Amino acid sequence: MPQKTWTKLPPWALLACRDILRAATANRRLVDILNEITDIITGLSDLDLAPSAALYIGECGQEGHRLLYHRHSDDLIFPLVIDPENISDSFPQGFGRASFYPVPLVIGEGERSIGSALFFGRTAKRMSAQKQTILMALAQEIARIIINRGGPSGTLIDLVELSTDEIYIFDPLSLAIVRANHTASIRTGHSLETLSRMTPAALKVDMSEAAYRAQIEPLLSGRCTSICFDARHRRRNGTVYPVKVQAWRIRSDEGDFYAEVAVTTADQRKAFGLLEQVFDAIPGGIGVFDKRSRLLMANRRLYDLMNIPPEQFPPGSRFEDILRYNATRGEYGDGNVEAMVRERVEQAELGLPYSFERERASGKVLAVRSEPLSGGGYVLSYTDITLRKRAEKELIRDRDELEATVRQRTAEIAAQAAALEEALKQEKTINAMQRQFVAMTSHEFRTPLAIIDGAAQRLMRKKGGIEPDFLVDKTHQIRAAVMRMVDLMESILSAGRIDTGRMELTLVDCSLKKLIEQAIHRQRMFSQNHRFQGFLEDLPDVIRCDALAISQVVTNLLGNAVKYAPRAPDVTIRGWREGEFAMISVQDQGVGIDADDIPKLFQPYFRARTSTGIAGTGIGLSLVKQVVTLHGGDIVLQSRRGHGSTFTIRLPIRGPVTVGTSLQLEEKAL
Ligand code: ADP
Repeated sequence: MPQKTWTKLPPWALLACRDILRAATANRRLVDILNEITDIITGLSDLDLAPSAALYIGECGQEGHRLLYHRHSDDLIFPLVIDPENISDSFPQGFGRASFYPVPLVIGEGERSIGSALFFGRTAKRMSAQKQTILMALAQEIARIIINRGGPSGTLIDLVELSTDEIYIFDPLSLAIVRANHTASIRTGHSLETLSRMTPAALKVDMSEAAYRAQIEPLLSGRCTSICFDARHRRRNGTVYPVKVQAWRIRSDEGDFYAEVAVTTADQRKAFGLLEQVFDAIPGGIGVFDKRSRLLMANRRLYDLMNIPPEQFPPGSRFEDILRYNATRGEYGDGNVEAMVRERVEQAELGLPYSFERERASGKVLAVRSEPLSGGGYVLSYTDITLRKRAEKELIRDRDELEATVRQRTAEIAAQAAALEEALKQEKTINAMQRQFVAMTSHEFRTPLAIIDGAAQRLMRKKGGIEPDFLVDKTHQIRAAVMRMVDLMESILSAGRIDTGRMELTLVDCSLKKLIEQAIHRQRMFSQNHRFQGFLEDLPDVIRCDALAISQVVTNLLGNAVKYAPRAPDVTIRGWREGEFAMISVQDQGVGIDADDIPKLFQPYFRARTSTGIAGTGIGLSLVKQVVTLHGGDIVLQSRRGHGSTFTIRLPIRGPVTVGTSLQLEEKAL
């Protein structure tokens, strides 16, 4: 289910989810975790939230949602309880100035809400519906963390509520009352809200905050776990009544509570009874031992967690007997029972605090902590952290999955960016090629047009009788120029077809020898200054190919052999067979090509340095190469500057193998 939400989130919210899970998987108190998570969420610039925020939790059997955690802003006071149905009305004043987002704390779609998270926009401008959905997804992570942490240790709070004595849980630093019970409100006449803005000292007659602090100093410094003193409380209406004050520091898995119990009778026994109740209400197991390691007092949970029978180990029992009982049952693993007992007793009696985690044979995980008492002795606490450990594992797994999602999404985005960049690069190359092409073709067409024009003008000037030789010569020039333009256009068209993947081969069985001879014949007509020598007897009789395309290839090579050898008249054409292949080579004695130009020669529009001063487009050879490749053959070149060139083509006699090519072949019987 969480993954389902994650897939809809933008990358910045995914990262926030990952950070939230990271914060939660650290082994820390819930309040610290909530603090960090609130930091993460209110710190997201995309959401533009104010730093103040609050988390409210519904408790069984209670109307409304109770304040679990909050962060003040100067102009905002959070009520202790809100009505989840009507959150805005729960705030007395200072409201409506900023945009306000109550978000239900649910662990997934269709689940019941366990409370509400309140966030505030930095300005009055409301965030978009899409961002509010993201805020809800983030709050969902908070809900899961609170549930995994087993809720805000409700039992102790319930007991405080039920007590018929005044109980104040207060903050040790500011002394501010963070929670007071209904009895306190009834006795003092102050509302719970007023009490939440007071300190226990303020309730007392003739006691300054400094005096109160001095009174509970042993508690704050950790020297004692409880302090008792007499005081007088003043009611809201001014009347005064005596109280016996018992102040406690109570350790719990969620951190230390500082609580004051104000008993109106001088009955110490009742206070002690209350202590026992408080002890029993603490979710963990607690045992107080004296300096000789005898059990003074223990709560029921201690017996449960240590899995020891209460009747066998009543107060007064020796710690080592309890340890021996467990060691004998194999609770501490294999080893010498007495040695294991001695080691543990010695550690406890050292008078130093220590803590460790232990997995029991049953799979239960316990956190064990020992705190020395000022007058000797120590308090042992056992907390069942099995669920927390399991939740931690789940959170770590969730976090890892989320990290994988983040990685995958990041990779997807990177791939998209790379593809875009590639497309952009291609577009740029195509643009450049087009510019180059337009410049070149316009230049290339101009030359034959000038020849035609020149020949026509000379014919016109002759007006009267034109000698047959003159006519033949000019007509010849015009035809050659036209032929050159037709060739040029054809190669441009073919190049375009190949570029767009629309080139189709029309395969026929044909005689390569005849095809080459025809090409030589055509070439002879236009290049009367050159001598063409053909050695074609060893060619196979027929090969399967696109006759037109191959004829164009040969014509191209012959044309180049003539063009790039203006002062070397001999062109040699050879044909032979090598296994399943027909071979054709065209050799000239012309300008040749520099070694470092050879690898680039078949690229479109590339022209070798030796071609300077000779007209050309750089299209022909790239076309030759592509036609040969489409046929499943290849072309190689041997050349040296000033020593001529030999182009050798290899074509499969049976035509191209079609598997894996995108060719559309059209079979035509010869
Ligand atoms: P074009 O001849 O129109 O420039 P091609 O694609 O046919 O275009 O040839 C590309 C380049 O290869 C030519 O510009 C030239 O530099 C070089 N080339 C091709 N054939 C020869 C040859 N027979 N001798 C020397 N250089 C050649």
